[in-house]
Amino acid sequence: MRLFTAGLITETNTFAPWPTGRRGFSENGPFHGDATTHGRDAETGVLAAAWKDLAARDGIAFAESLFAHAQPSGTAVQSVYEEYRDEILSDLKSRGPFDIALFFLHGAMVSAGCDDCEGDILARARAILGPEAKIGALLDPHCHLTPQMIEAADAIVLIKEYPHIDYLERGRELYDICVRAVRKECRPVMRLFDCRMIGFYPTTSEPMAGFVRLMKQAETRPGVLSVSFGHGFPWGDTPETGSKVLVVADGDAVLAETVASEVGHAIYDARKVLLPRYPDINRALDQARNCKGVAVLADAADNAGGGAPSDNVALLKAMLDAGVDRAVFGCIWDPVTVQACAEAGVGATFPLRIGGKCGPASGAPLDVIATVRAVVPNHSQKDLGPARCPMGDAVWLEIGGIDVVVMSVRTQTFSPDAFTGLGIDLASKKIIALKSSWHFQASFGPIAEKLIPVATPGALQMDFAAIAYRKKRDLEFYPRIADPLRRD
Ligand SMILES: [Zn+2]
Repeated sequence: MRLFTAGLITETNTFAPWPTGRRGFSENGPFHGDATTHGRDAETGVLAAAWKDLAARDGIAFAESLFAHAQPSGTAVQSVYEEYRDEILSDLKSRGPFDIALFFLHGAMVSAGCDDCEGDILARARAILGPEAKIGALLDPHCHLTPQMIEAADAIVLIKEYPHIDYLERGRELYDICVRAVRKECRPVMRLFDCRMIGFYPTTSEPMAGFVRLMKQAETRPGVLSVSFGHGFPWGDTPETGSKVLVVADGDAVLAETVASEVGHAIYDARKVLLPRYPDINRALDQARNCKGVAVLADAADNAGGGAPSDNVALLKAMLDAGVDRAVFGCIWDPVTVQACAEAGVGATFPLRIGGKCGPASGAPLDVIATVRAVVPNHSQKDLGPARCPMGDAVWLEIGGIDVVVMSVRTQTFSPDAFTGLGIDLASKKIIALKSSWHFQASFGPIAEKLIPVATPGALQMDFAAIAYRKKRDLEFYPRIADPLRRD
């Protein structure tokens, strides 16, 4: 048996101004066939290595092609997408034949000429491999599940948790289904249920945590191979954008359809409770002040992980105006500021203009007097798994009573070492304000008394009814329409 693997991962915010091009894919990779040896610090390499280990265990010949990841941003540059896609397809053709192709994709990549990059890759892979080979894809739940993907692949498995702490587990499940399918021990068929919702669904609290349990329970039913919830990515405008349930069953399309409908209706019936309701900045600061332990404030709308610039400083300004102390704020993406501070050196105190550089979603810049406390070249932080996430050159600035981290490579703030790695003592802080929508909860949850996602201004607006879709096919979705499935 021969197994082919490849990965091309980015989540496209079609409303974000910054294009996703070669530079975006160069921050941690790309790996041209050597992710399992040189990419062990990257999420892509960690999963590729897990598939390689499984193949070695099972005596399956293993081939790896391109593994590339770009931080979410605006629409991908067409020529860059085609170059990476064609590198994968040319490896698939020239190094074949293969019995299985496993892809690590995001599911919400949009290029200038293609609204469904993953469906495009899978369909072209199918044309090369023929109908007998098994094609599997591991997707992020913030994906647009499309008919083209379902048509081209044999099995698609989504990460279940948000924060995405279970990508390795799900990757191993996908491997298992596909290997068993080649051995004719199962015959995967997939069905989708469209919940006709747009939403944001962290799995760390109820009722969403309960729906993850419901999906896992459904997977114990005879004949059910995998149950996934595609949260969808609200800020990617494509014909298929929306929340959907995907079920892979063993040779039984009716069972797949039934289970998808059951799980989908259960989630739909909780839609009102699932709608995020975040406090505005003033209320959030009040909540933080009333907190006895550490309060973690999330600048949710300016999350690089959803394609936002990460240089909106409205929350920092409010904290300074309110005279907050024993606080940290980070991590702001502002390479110009990093350069100026590195030039000035540790100990320098001087006037500085921070943030507000990339467009309307960045808001106004902030003029401050800052003291440089540390300059760290090639800083990095712990990712959601064993991988590390590069942050480029980073500086620790003291502004008023707040320690601020500014970095030169754009990423969301995943873990405390984004701050402590620069020498900041988090144990002495009362307020940790950071740029992330939800992934931060995995690492900051244990040190916080209260986690407060804040309704900040920025590129990731949570008012889903007001998102100005132009390409989305179905505009009768919740919360634009109260009951699109007519259940009430
Ligand atoms: Zn995601």
